[in-house]
Amino acid sequence: MYMARLVCSDSECAEELTAETATLRELETLMCECGCGLEVIGWPDVAAEPLAEVVLLRVQAASAGRRRRDALSDAA
Ligand SMILES: [Zn+2]
Repeated sequence: MYMARLVCSDSECAEELTAETATLRELETLMCECGCGLEVIGWPDVAAEPLAEVVLLRVQAASAGRRRRDALSDAA
């Protein structure tokens, strides 16, 4: 399945929607209700989850480093 953010190519309509189709070709041939073609402007949800995971891992690594420094200063 392909999911995309689409916007109407007619600037007076400017309808925006998210569509899901079985093939990329179907996405490209979708039509707005006003009769104009729709243009793909973005891909939702594709990169959102992996990015959130990377940020979370960095936060965990940073706090682990801080804990190690605290232990050293306690010993000194
Ligand atoms: Zn339209």
